[in-house]
Amino acid sequence: MKKPKLIWTNILLFSITSLVAVIGVPLYGYLVGYDKYHWIATILCLGYCGISITAGYHRMWSHKAYEGHAIVRVIWAIGGAFALQNSALHWASDHRIHHRHVDDNDKDPYSAKRGFWFSHIGWMLREYQAHRYDNYDNVPDMLRDPIVMWQHRHYLTLALITNLGIPLLIGIIHGDVIGMLLTAGVLRLVISHHATFFINSLAHIWGNQPYTDQNTARDNGFLAFLTYGEGYHNFHHLFQFDYRNGIRWWHFDPTKWLIKSMSWVGLAKNLRRCDDIRIEKAKAARLFEISSKKLTQLPDKEELLQRLKDEYENYTAHLSEFYTVKKQWLEVKKDELVKNYEKTKVMQQYMELKRRLQEERENWRLLHQQIQVAA
Ligand SMILES: [Zn+2]
Ligand SMILES: [Zn+2]
Repeated sequence: MKKPKLIWTNILLFSITSLVAVIGVPLYGYLVGYDKYHWIATILCLGYCGISITAGYHRMWSHKAYEGHAIVRVIWAIGGAFALQNSALHWASDHRIHHRHVDDNDKDPYSAKRGFWFSHIGWMLREYQAHRYDNYDNVPDMLRDPIVMWQHRHYLTLALITNLGIPLLIGIIHGDVIGMLLTAGVLRLVISHHATFFINSLAHIWGNQPYTDQNTARDNGFLAFLTYGEGYHNFHHLFQFDYRNGIRWWHFDPTKWLIKSMSWVGLAKNLRRCDDIRIEKAKAARLFEISSKKLTQLPDKEELLQRLKDEYENYTAHLSEFYTVKKQWLEVKKDELVKNYEKTKVMQQYMELKRRLQEERENWRLLHQQIQVAA
């Protein structure tokens, strides 16, 4: 089959910026040198670009995981142009197709099943998507957002102003225009590009699948560190509307922390979270699947499989019971009409179920561990 036409603008952009980052930046450093302000400016610009993509383009616009105040939307729109990743409208349209048809080589614009190179950058180097360049039917909500449409119409101007203007301005203030154009301009752009591209490539290749193996998405703490929390991609593909990607407190997810903090000062609202029970059930089902496959190699497989089934049933039944009572408890706790002795009754029941569930969780974890070690 004939390959689609090459997109020379993108090929030249990626090649030239990469060459400048790899050769020009160290050479200038060797000949002239950089000081700490070059690096501070580069890190700040990098952070602004990255978070505009993760909190803005991705979680707010593509997934509607929260609603951002107009000021926030303008900040993300400018930062997204600075990150040079196309308009928010186009980016989100591609991304919604990616989620809908994940791993489908014909439909997913950056299907990981077509390999690392294609999902990382190859998909942007040829006219693979020419048939739907101007089709924004899957983002009707964004077509109604005046800030999105303003950015889409003036994307090129905004991209040029930010990418040249910001490093130039900082360079003039600092007194080294070329050095700043190289670091906060080009190096920042190249790092920012590849950090995002890793989500489409590496986060679909390298890592664990604690929630589902129905698609290639992986959870990877190291990638989360490079991508402001987006590395928990296995969770994200199953619970895409959740404003969090890393759901535990120890998960590195600065995008989540920022969104939550914005909600405290009125800059973000209607933060969406998936029910804890759905998340825990998905994880239990996945562990059940992994362990039942593993134990087929063991001599006492029948007995172990029966134990696994019993524990799984117990655990998931208790989960449902616990979350029902937890909901009740949260409701009566706030209700002033409910008498105190009734509140105490529900609370005691809640505490008892909580204790029992913790035991169940521990048994479940130990059984899984035992099978892992034996297999
Ligand atoms: Zn993905
Ligand atoms: Zn997504």
